[in-house]
Amino acid sequence: MEDVVKQSPLLDYLIEENRRKTFKKWVFSKNNACNADKMAEAGFIFVGNRIDNDSVKCFLCNKALEGWEPTDDPWQEHLKHSPNCALAKLRKPMMQMTLNEFLDIRNALIESVISSYFDKYISEIDEKSNKCEKMVAELIKTNSFAST
Ligand SMILES: [Zn+2]
Repeated sequence: MEDVVKQSPLLDYLIEENRRKTFKKWVFSKNNACNADKMAEAGFIFVGNRIDNDSVKCFLCNKALEGWEPTDDPWQEHLKHSPNCALAKLRKPMMQMTLNEFLDIRNALIESVISSYFDKYISEIDEKSNKCEKMVAELIKTNSFAST
């Protein structure tokens, strides 16, 4: 389980500076409310490309947002579209957090990484068990023991 957490690339994004580095090709300038610094501060990482040039998502709640306006406030948009995100609710840049607040965010991230791992694992198991059920049903249909 420790490996699942350690291998997650999301852990790096706990650090605001690492989120900031993803915004190298951000379309908004320093004068805009949604500039790269403010986006990183509010928990976003850039996930867009040349065509889809303003796609971001929160490293913690995974909420993806696009269609930014220069006057959009990243914290406000974050909370509006993801009201349960621990970071959006806290609304504090990393350097203004207390150690306990930072650790709470870190724990929420670890929980989310582990639960998405289990979701994937469980859906794989479901898929396999469905296949087995179909095979058994097929065997019953084609075998004589159904009539004995
Ligand atoms: Zn979030």
